[in-house]
Amino acid sequence: MNEFEVIARYFRRSPRSADVRIGIGDDGAVIVSRPGSELVVTVDMLVEGRHFAANADPEGIGHKTLAVNLSDLAAMGALPRFALLAGALPSSDPQWIAAFMRGFDALATRYDVELIGGDTTRGPRTLCVTAIGEVPAGAAITRSGARVGDVVYVSGTFGDAALALAIEAGRVPAQAHERSSLEHRLDRPEPRVALGIGLRGIASAALDVSDGLTGDLGHILDASGVGATIDLAAVPCGDVMHSLLDGNARAVALQALLAGGDDYELCFTARPAMRERIAALARTLALPLTPIGVVTAEPGLVVRDERGETLSPLPRAFDHFG
Ligand code: ADP
Ligand code: MG
Repeated sequence: MNEFEVIARYFRRSPRSADVRIGIGDDGAVIVSRPGSELVVTVDMLVEGRHFAANADPEGIGHKTLAVNLSDLAAMGALPRFALLAGALPSSDPQWIAAFMRGFDALATRYDVELIGGDTTRGPRTLCVTAIGEVPAGAAITRSGARVGDVVYVSGTFGDAALALAIEAGRVPAQAHERSSLEHRLDRPEPRVALGIGLRGIASAALDVSDGLTGDLGHILDASGVGATIDLAAVPCGDVMHSLLDGNARAVALQALLAGGDDYELCFTARPAMRERIAALARTLALPLTPIGVVTAEPGLVVRDERGETLSPLPRAFDHFG
């Protein structure tokens, strides 16, 4: 297949939403802007050998390429609307592309996200999605709104994706059934879209945790000019993580829990008075929303361990150039 056959076969589709005046097929897409709303635009790239292995399941990569972008939109409180997909592919391998698009389309369909354009080129395998979401004007949740006295919350559980990597690398032992649920967290992250939307008007600041809890929470603190103290024992985690934290793999477990990447949960802050509304949101979404600490005036992040002592040094977050 040549480039245009690949585009016609796997990417081209007719516009679905009435807001897409021109979709795939022209030099650019044309979308209608709705009065009273603002667009949130984000881009995230997945590179073979860096974000996924050469033999990784293409359907999972299709899911994850879109999921990481929807996670960024969720962190801003945006409703996902459109996506553009730029792919460098080593060849026009139809099986690989078809499987990739199955994963991509399944997630896009669930969140009613429409593919409106992209770019296709030969090169070392790299997948890059630009996602466009919508918020009522002024309602986007940013990283900079945390105030002293706010409560720090997280959704879901932490560390499982990083544990899956640690298990694959042979750094911690695990049973087969434990591995598969951890690997699912790594390969099929679920963007917290409904949570992000539900947090409009509730959260003072938010972000999605892709590079580890302590490092990412640090970005909220820096942007807001505040500090925080969190309790290690309050950080929600799964059963495998719990047992490792109590055993002799504690160091690896702590690293995965606090600094492991790929959680794609939301971390947010809110005034203490929002407690009931947050509890109600957790019930509606059937998603745990757990208070793990408080925002303080003293800059920097302090993590207290199970005995109330300051954890030092903090495990280091992932950094592509670190
Ligand atoms: P141009 O040369 O003007 O950039 P292309 O020939 O690259 O246009 O693309 C033709 C059409 O196909 C454009 O509308 C583009 O957005 C779309 N397209 C190309 N690659 C992809 C892709 N991977 N996913 C979705 N749409 C794509
Ligand atoms: Mg053009």
